[in-house]
Order: sequence, then C-alpha cells, then structure tokens
Amino acid sequence: MTSNEIRKAFLDYFESKGHHVVPSAPMVIKNDPTLMFTNAGMNQFKDIFLGNQQRQWPRATDSQKCLRVSGKHNDLEEVGHDTYHHTMFEMLGNWSFGDYFKKEAIAYGWEFLTEVMKINKDWLYVTVFGGDEKEGLSMDTEAYDFWKEHISEDRILRGSKKDNFWEMGDQGPCGPCSEIHVDIRPDEEKAKVPGKDLVNKDNPQVIEIWNLVFMQYNRKADGSLEPLKAKHIDTGMGFERLCMVMQGKRSNYDTDVFQPLIQELAAKAGKRYGENEETDVALRVCADHLRAVSFSIADGQLPSNVKAGYVIRRILRRAVRYGYTFLGFTEPFINSLVPTLVGQMGHQFPELQKQQDLIQRIILEEEQAFLRTLAGGIKRFEEYAAKCTCKVVDGAFAFELFDTYGFPIDLTQLIASEKGLSVDMEGFNKGLAEQKERSRGAAKVESDDWQELLPGVEEEFVGYDTLEADVRIARYRHVKAKDKEFYQLVFDRTPFYGESGGQAGDTGELRIKSYELRVNNTKKENGLIVHIVDELPEDLTATFHASVDADKRQATACNHSATHLMHYALRQVLGEHVEQKGSSVDPQRLRFDFSHYEKMSPEQIRDVERRVNEMIRACLPLEEHRAMPIAEAQKLGAMALFGEKYGDKVRVVKYGPSTEFCGGTHVQNTGMIGSFRIVSEGAIAAGMRRIEAITAKAATDYADAQQDQLAALAEMFKGTKDLTASIAKLQEDNAALKASVEQLQKEKAAGVAKGIADKLKTNPVLIERMDADVNTLKDAVMALRNECPDMAVVLGSVKDGKPALLIVLGQNRVDAGLNAGQMVRTLGKEIQGGGGGQPHFATAGGKNPDGLDKALSVAKELIG
Ligand code: ATP
Ligand code: MG
Repeated sequence: MTSNEIRKAFLDYFESKGHHVVPSAPMVIKNDPTLMFTNAGMNQFKDIFLGNQQRQWPRATDSQKCLRVSGKHNDLEEVGHDTYHHTMFEMLGNWSFGDYFKKEAIAYGWEFLTEVMKINKDWLYVTVFGGDEKEGLSMDTEAYDFWKEHISEDRILRGSKKDNFWEMGDQGPCGPCSEIHVDIRPDEEKAKVPGKDLVNKDNPQVIEIWNLVFMQYNRKADGSLEPLKAKHIDTGMGFERLCMVMQGKRSNYDTDVFQPLIQELAAKAGKRYGENEETDVALRVCADHLRAVSFSIADGQLPSNVKAGYVIRRILRRAVRYGYTFLGFTEPFINSLVPTLVGQMGHQFPELQKQQDLIQRIILEEEQAFLRTLAGGIKRFEEYAAKCTCKVVDGAFAFELFDTYGFPIDLTQLIASEKGLSVDMEGFNKGLAEQKERSRGAAKVESDDWQELLPGVEEEFVGYDTLEADVRIARYRHVKAKDKEFYQLVFDRTPFYGESGGQAGDTGELRIKSYELRVNNTKKENGLIVHIVDELPEDLTATFHASVDADKRQATACNHSATHLMHYALRQVLGEHVEQKGSSVDPQRLRFDFSHYEKMSPEQIRDVERRVNEMIRACLPLEEHRAMPIAEAQKLGAMALFGEKYGDKVRVVKYGPSTEFCGGTHVQNTGMIGSFRIVSEGAIAAGMRRIEAITAKAATDYADAQQDQLAALAEMFKGTKDLTASIAKLQEDNAALKASVEQLQKEKAAGVAKGIADKLKTNPVLIERMDADVNTLKDAVMALRNECPDMAVVLGSVKDGKPALLIVLGQNRVDAGLNAGQMVRTLGKEIQGGGGGQPHFATAGGKNPDGLDKALSVAKELIG
C-alpha cells in the first residue's frame, strides 16, 4: 500500500463508523498564548474538550499536521539520529466528543490495525495506565478489561504516568491513555528477547504507533486535577510509523513518504543512503526539516528572528548545517527539493501546491543568508584559533559562535578537534543556561484557574450589531505577566471584539451606577473573548453596562474594510499570484503582507490607490453572511486564506466584487472610509512585500501635512507657481556656484604657492603665519622640498577658530639633526594641541589660536 492509500484507508474506516472527516488545522497556532505549533491532533478540538465551544459533530476523524520542536513535546534533537521521530509529522486521529468512550475506542483501534491493515496480532502489545500514587490515581482497570476482550493478558502491560498519562501542556485537558506498540524485529531476534521487555525502552523496532487518550481531567494551574464534565476520546497514530509497518520497512525514512526526498538529496550530494551512518543522519535531517519548514511557510509562518519564526529559522539552519558539515553542500540545496515534496504531498495538502514558488524562494534566501553567516563564523574561528595559545577553546567564545553564528556546540567541537583543540564545555553550558534564564524571565506568564460564575454559559459576540450591551461576568481569573498583573473577564455576551485575524481588540468601559472600569484590551484566546482589566469589580454578580470606544472601533473598521478593497485591487493590478500573508489593522493604520516578487512601481501604487478610492466613492454597501456553509462561500468566490482554521460555516464579507472570509468588524458602506492612501511599500522577505496604508481622517491629515509642507516650500521661493522648476533652478545655480568656488580656491592656492616659492628663493628659513588652509600650504611646500634641501619651514594658520602648525625640513636640515616630528610636539603645547609626523614633515592641530605667535617664536629659537 502506498502512503496515500494508507491515509485514505484510515479516514474511510472511521467515516464508515459515523465519524465526520475534517481537514487538518493549520500547523501554526494563532489564538493560543500557551502553544506556538500544533503538537497533536487534539489541539484543534481543545476548546470543545474545555467546554468553551459546542461540538459540531459527536465524532470526527482527520490527519493532522503536527510539529514537535518546542515546549512540552520537543523531539528536535532526536530527529535524524533515530528512525521514527520527525519534527513535522502527520497524526491520524479519531475523536469522540462526549460520545463513545474506552470500550469503542479500543475496539475500533484493534479492528483497524488487525482487520483492515491486517497487521499480525502477534506483533502487537498494548499498555494501560498503572496508576500514580502522587496524583492519587489508581490503575485504569476499565481499559485493561476492555483490552482483555481482544488480546491475551500477557500482552497488556502496565505503564507509568510518564508513558500512560497524556497531557498537552502544563495546564488543560488530560487523561490516562493506552498505547499500541508494534514489534517489527526479525524472528530470530524475537526468539531471543520477548517484545514485551522492549516496550517503551527506546528500541527503534519496538515502537509506539498509536495512543488512545481517554480525556477525563482538566489540569489546573496549581497542578491538581479536576474531572471534565463530559468524557472524550482523543487518539493519535503516527502516520509515517504506520506506513513503515505496512510497507515492511525498518525505518520511517525507508517508506515512500521520505525516500524520494532522500534519494534526490543523496544524488545531489554524490552519496548513497545506507552506506555511512553520519551521512545517513544528515540526509534524514535534511529531508525531515525540509517538510517542517515548507509546511510552516505554507501556513503563513516565515522564518524570522522572533518566537515561532525563530523556531522555524533554527530548524532550517540545523538542516543547512548538517548538509554543510556531512554532505559537503556549500551552496543552497534544500530549496531545490521543494518541487519533489510538492509532487508527493501537494495533492493532500493544496496549500503546498499553491505556494510552491514562494516556499522555494524563501528557503533559498534563508539558506544563502545562513551560509554567509556560517562562513563568517568559520572565519571568526580561524582567527581565534590562530591566536589561541592554549589547547582549549574558551567556553564563552563557543557560546558566541552558537549565539551569533548559529554554530551548534557539536560543530564547534568538530572544527576545534580538526585543529587539535578541545572546547570548554562548562563555560559553554554556563552561557547557555544564562541565556535560557533570560528568555524564560521575559516570557513568563502565570495564569490562575478560571473562576466560574455562570457555568455552562457560552459567550455570545454581539459586537457586529451593537457597541453597547448589558453583560454579566461568566468567569474571571488573575494573571501575572513579567512586570504587570491584571484580570481577565469573560462575559455571557459582549460587544467587544477580541484581537484576532489581525484586527486589534476593542477598548472601552464597564459601568454600574457611578462605578467605572476601563477595559484596556480584548483578546481572543482558545475561542474565548477575554477582556483585560486592572481590578475586579466589588460585586462580581452584577449586570454591567459595557460600551466599546466607538471612535477607535470606527477607525479600525475603516482600515479593515480598506484592507479588503486593497487586497482586491492588488490582485487586479499585480495579478492572481498575490496572496495575503499577514494583516494587521488598528485605529491608526493598516498593514498588509502579500506574496509578490518585485518592488511595486510608483504607477502601480498609484493605480491601487485609485482603484480603492473608486470603490470608496462607489459607496458599496456591506453584504454580510454570518454563517454560510463553506462550499457556498467558495462558490461566491470568497478568498480563503491558507493557515486559517475554518469551521463548516464561515462568515463572508462582501463589498461589490471584493469577497472574503472574515470575522472582523467592518464599515456599513465603503463611503464611510472617505479616503485611502498608501504610505509605504517594501520587501520583508524573498517574494514577500508589505504595504502600510491609512484611511479616513488619518488619510486627510496626511494629505494636509503634505500640503502644508509644499506651501511652506513654495513660500521659501517667494510664492512661486512652479515649485519643481524653482527647485531645479536652485540646484543648477548651486552647481554653478560650487564650480566657481572651486576655481577660485585653485587660483588662490596657486597664489599662495607662488608667494612661498618667492620667499624661499631669498631665504630657505620661513617661519610665519599664513592665511591659507594647512593642506594647501603643505602641498605648496612639499612641492618645493627637493629643489631646496636647506629649507626649514614652519607655518601657522587659523581656520574656523582652530590653530594648526606645519613643519617641513629639507634633507640637509634633517641630516644636520633637526627633527620635525619632535619639534611639532614642543610647538603643539603652545596651541594646546598635539601632533606628530616624521623627521622631515609634521603637523599639529590645537585649541588655542592665541598661542600661535608664541609657537612660531619658539620655532625661531629651535631652528636658530
Ligand atoms: P514517542 O514516545 O514515540 O515519542 P509519544 O508518546 O511522544 O511517542 P504521543 O504524544 O502519544 O507520542 O503521539 C501519538 C502518536 O504520534 C505516537 O504513538 C506516534 O505514533 C506518533 N508520534 C509522536 N511523536 C512523533 C514524532 N516526533 N514523529 C513521528 N511520529 C510521532
Ligand atoms: Mg514523544
């Protein structure tokens, strides 16, 4: 079976058991402060498990793109070195939301593996949670008893909390789990050591393929567990591991998921996979990381220097570095594999196909930049090694290479050992620990548990229709972030828009009688609209009058609606390859990132502005569909964004020809936007541009300011009618004046030179003040030096209030023991300055022009 067939068989099986097939959610997570990337299939259903959101179907199944490179689940260091962990992988899952529980989950899992996939039952082992005293939890005998119906008891093993109690993060839904392991060792090895002794022992051929999680608790902030209201099933099976078993391979990398990539890479490197462990690891790392980075870019997360972007950058750099060190790639190479990846997976994941070109360009640019950094670091190391007198590379220096040049410590050790040096690991680890401490301190946020006041109430957003509403607090909690403390409130209904989809959150007020509480910001987190306030009101159960700051909301709406119009206009002016890659709107401005490959010309920018302003003047009314089935919306031509999670029903926002999926707040009529201006356009990455623009009052203010500036300029030209011509004339005049000044200076210099020459003819000793700049004097005197070997010239001059001295001695004077360099130091003191030079020529600058005469008289004494 091919991998694509295996995936389909899984989804088909669960569909036949009444499960709704849902698409993978994006791998990059946007509305959850506790998680950057999807690390398990359950993430996209977390809100349902937590009770924040109603289920859409009682059962679901999917194949979810996961990335395990940060936080609680981080496999990065294993990847490539072992044969069954990836950074990015697909997790096959089936879900029950308060529907079936352990009995059916176990029966389905067993039937799928043994009847549908026909995996030999003798290869399988299962584990159940054996209990944990510290948590006060006993063994999961329920699961044990259900397993007994399918498999002999000597194959049911009891596991510890570490392996058999699943948690997504430090807080949130969790529960005991039951894993299915498969033993794919050859028979002779099985005969020697029974498989059950190797379960959960890191043997690469006795591995976990499926984890059935029985969600029944919520882990609270203080670490305690509370039972969930409804019990759920959450399962996750490693797709690549299943493919390995089904294709009779011993490594995930030997399946058709990875082989095309590995073979192509090996051919490019002139190596063969399977010949040498070091190059094999490197080939696996590169093939794996290419997938992680490509999928992440397709979901809208580009490599960058902060947060999730930095994680992606580090993954790509890890691949480049392995390729550089072990495969001999000194030029970019990873990007060239993108077409193969897309050919293989583009069918299942259209976001890859659609953005192939962009993905390839961005990876290429990252590779180029990192290879330059790498070369810089190697040069830095060479310099260090050349100076290094002892046999140990300083730990602080190794850390600098790591921090600034992205050199992992093993690379530094490698190049150090090539020079017969070792590395001070203690010092390096100290630097690393300090850095970790710094970043932990910066990011630390402690949230208490939610205090429920109105259990079971689902928050309703009424802010599309009104800016004021009477609300009650449904839950609240206290939050401590780095240097501030605040409270988060969730209401039964709210007119406040919570920051999401790039639109800033609303601010406003809560009022009851004379009491007023400022809402400083509103955010959307895990499906909840969370209001941020400095204190808790005294009476938490009261009904408050909530009102949104209307001016700010209106200004934001203008910017958001204008973003839609501009998106439409950009596609008309530049072409259909323009895809939204990021957007941010607040009351001040709009910012829009999109794919496009070159700088926009001034004409194109003007054209976009004109089209948007035309749509504004056309006063297009808002056509809004709050809950449209997704297929219908697509028929309307709505532009879906990759990297967004959509339910079955979507909101569609339409102004004339512009149609978008969007949850934001908008103007009723484009006429309200008034005016639109682009203020900047530039590149943010390979193939990615960013526009900033303003609307409404900001746009008029901007035009006013420009008008005022022009008027002020025209005033400087005596109220000229044609400012451009006047400035051009000014520039011309200026150039002519500059030319004549230069000419005059040349003539003056010639005059000075002639004067000096005449004086030296009568007397080779010349000590006086001259009204010319030192360089002019120097050129004049030096030109005469060979003709006049007896010369002893000391000249003083003052320019812009600063004195300077020049001494030039002919060869006979030097031979007779005079030294200009020494002399100038003595004379320099008189003008409060210093200088230096050679025996025949020296200069000095100073601060005190009044001392110049004294300096010259000292010179007379010295020369005699
Ligand atoms: P392991 O102990 O092998 O790391 P896990 O306990 O971390 O697995 P779960 O969190 O239970 O795994 O995830 C469910 C399934 O996803 C696993 O049974 C496995 O098949 C698969 N899986 C987990 N991590 C990875 C990974 N890094 N790469 C590929 N598949 C994985
Ligand atoms: Mg793991």
